[in-house]
Formats: sequence, C-alpha cells, structure tokens
Amino acid sequence: MSAILSIIFLSCNSQNKESKKDSMETKGTNAVYSRSDSAKINLADTEWRKLLPEDVYEIAREKGTERPFTGKYDKHKEVGTYYCAACGNPLFASNGKFESSCGWPSFFEPISKGSIVYAPDNAYGMKRTEVMCGRCKAHLGHVFEDGPPPSGLRYCINSVILDFEKAKDAEKEFKAENK
Ligand SMILES: [Zn+2]
Repeated sequence: MSAILSIIFLSCNSQNKESKKDSMETKGTNAVYSRSDSAKINLADTEWRKLLPEDVYEIAREKGTERPFTGKYDKHKEVGTYYCAACGNPLFASNGKFESSCGWPSFFEPISKGSIVYAPDNAYGMKRTEVMCGRCKAHLGHVFEDGPPPSGLRYCINSVILDFEKAKDAEKEFKAENK
C-alpha cells in the first residue's frame, strides 16, 4: 500500500516541477529552500540530487558553467533581489548589478558580506576565485578584479543558480529617485 502511495506522490512531484517558481518561501519539493532561514546547509551531493532540478544541480554541485549569453538574467534589469536557486539565500541586489559584455549576469558587490564564500580555483590552468553561496556552498561562478568602481570587482554568476524576485515598492522608489 505504501509503495503505491509513494508512486502517486512521485508522479505528482514531477508534475509540480513546472510551477516551482510560484512559491516564494519554499520551492517544489526542495525542503531546505528558504528565504528567511539563514542556518547553514551541509548536504551530501546525493541528497542535493534529490532536491534540485538537473540544470541547477549541474552548476551548484558539479561547478558547471552555462553557455554565455544564454542565461535569463544576463541582460535582466528589473529592480529586486537575486536569491540562491538551491537554498533561497539572498545573494545580490539589483543595484549591485552592472552591464558587462562577458555573457553572464555580473555584479560588483554581493548583498551582504556573509552571503557569499570564496575559494581559490586553479582548474584549467587559470588562477581564479570561485564564489559560492554562503549558506549552502552552491557554486555560483567566479569573481574577477576587472569590475567597475567602487569595488573594482566583477562577480560573474550563472543565471541558472539565481532566483529573482521583483521588489514592487523598491521599484517605485527607484523610479521616483531617478526622475
Ligand atoms: Zn545556497
């Protein structure tokens, strides 16, 4: 009996995959996703594989890179907040984003100091600095020292690992300030 129930449950889950963007606080069947809980998440890759869609898993846990100029947030200009698509941790604000020609969403600063962690990455014969989510250690992209002032940094981030939420009030204020 329980086997039948779990089969029904699984088939429901796969149907719900399409509407995963609808929920703000939780995300489909990803039980660790939260935009308010800042407790660190330490899961094995086998656990992440059950929680994340394949494209997110590939970037987050296998340090993949989406093809340049294909990401949905590359040219994205709306006012709001970018969250980690794996765990919901706030990562970047739209006012920390800038237009770069590199083909990936680029930011000059994270939303807060603790939102991101760094690690040296010497793969492919390059000396780079990897950036990861400060809450779940998902791979986000890399940071380079050729960004605009004031930071001089360019956080080059995969769109796939970002969730964007438009800030309605913030947008009004932004428009009023820039009239
Ligand atoms: Zn995360």
